[in-house]
Amino acid sequence: MIVNNTDKVYEYLQDNTLNKYKRYISLIIRRKEHIIDTIYAKDIYPNYKKNMETLKTEYQDLFTNKISFNDVKLNGTKVNVNRENYNDLIIDKNQNTRKSVYDIYTFAFANISDILGDMYIKKLELDLMVSKKEKYNSLLSKKLFELELPDEILDKLISTINKNLHVMHEYTDLRKQLSGLKEFHVYDSSISLCKIPKIEYELIDAINIIKSSLSILGNDYISIIDKMFDEGWVDVYSKVNKRTMSFTCISYVGVPYILINYNKSINSVRTLAHEIGHAIHVYYSKNNNDFEYFEFSYFLTEIASKVNETLFNEYMIKNCSDIEEKKYILNNIISSIGNSIFGQTMLTEFEHTVIKRLEKEEKVDTNYLNDLYLEINKKYNGKSLTIDDNIKYGWSKIPHFIMQDTYYIYQYSIGTSIAVYIAYKILNNENNMKEKYLKFLKLGNSVSIEDALKVIDVDLRDGKYIEDAIKVLSEKIKEMKNL
Ligand SMILES: [Zn+2]
Repeated sequence: MIVNNTDKVYEYLQDNTLNKYKRYISLIIRRKEHIIDTIYAKDIYPNYKKNMETLKTEYQDLFTNKISFNDVKLNGTKVNVNRENYNDLIIDKNQNTRKSVYDIYTFAFANISDILGDMYIKKLELDLMVSKKEKYNSLLSKKLFELELPDEILDKLISTINKNLHVMHEYTDLRKQLSGLKEFHVYDSSISLCKIPKIEYELIDAINIIKSSLSILGNDYISIIDKMFDEGWVDVYSKVNKRTMSFTCISYVGVPYILINYNKSINSVRTLAHEIGHAIHVYYSKNNNDFEYFEFSYFLTEIASKVNETLFNEYMIKNCSDIEEKKYILNNIISSIGNSIFGQTMLTEFEHTVIKRLEKEEKVDTNYLNDLYLEINKKYNGKSLTIDDNIKYGWSKIPHFIMQDTYYIYQYSIGTSIAVYIAYKILNNENNMKEKYLKFLKLGNSVSIEDALKVIDVDLRDGKYIEDAIKVLSEKIKEMKNL
């Protein structure tokens, strides 16, 4: 057992021929102090797993079978609201209809919010129990230990966002202005604020646009895109039984295959650029690292894809002559940055506050969750959003809180901030960012996340990269207002 004889292992590692394995083995050894004694572990982990599975099965059953929604009247006809038609109904042209749909949907969750609250708290308590047994100071410490990151990065994210909430308020205000509504409510937040461009892009044109928009990354990067299509890495069109979500495979053997469902719209061209980002990151990583280190952390995954999206969007804005298309793309940049950076941090702040309270063994119940969610929503959205009291049930509609890993969503905020920061540094030709970024894409897991980010001058402890990304958002909002 490596962890029982660490001195001996370190002695062996002095041998230079073992250099390659130093990081790999250190990553195992560092877990030593958090390993639960075998006698206890054989009960703790199976129990945790069993309880978590039961909780998730019950939740799934409640969410899919047991929840029931009332009918809404649409042009005189009664329509039953459900999870399948909700997304279509909530973008109805009539604000009163949207309000009715939202109220009906929310009412169904409010009815079972006590059960959902208990489930969420139970899930967190299970996580907390294990992290305590594993001798972590907190659940956050455990999650960040796994990523070799210090605890302070989450508080830095939340505090930087809180310092810049006026930009989030401007974002909400812009949405209100574009909607033309007197009062902008949460049920108005899904309506389309810009006309969807009717322009269709044939695949060959899409590939050429993507290559032009990414040409700033250099010839090698572009030659991989050519290779990708010449060698058939991309499964382009939708077909029966094909997954509807876009996807890029990560494998050391073979090539990173891409699955998309291309439909000629500008959004599907952007999705293709996004997946190409993932594929080339995997390609570079596996071609520059041994098997032990080729798989980079999930923490870094969305950076390469979002960099490509941003470069694509900027290229389109510069090169399109159609004002509606320009507005549409600008709106996409704004909502993508706004929702990822501010929206996901809002949910993170909610989760983090609940967990800290549980760790202090203070009382958390459904009422507390409702009040907290309402307060955080008010704080993030500012005065342009008219607050309805039933917003407070919002947390209960998000399956993620119960079904996914705790302390996970904040990675979207950090990933998007870093990607925006990189893309505009490259576009403005600042600090040799192109060279640094290409080097970063080749690192895999050969160094820690923090060291990989040092290559692109990002320090998660100082939050400057978030400030830079927020500055971009603020400029784009101004640009949109002046269009
Ligand atoms: Zn992605």
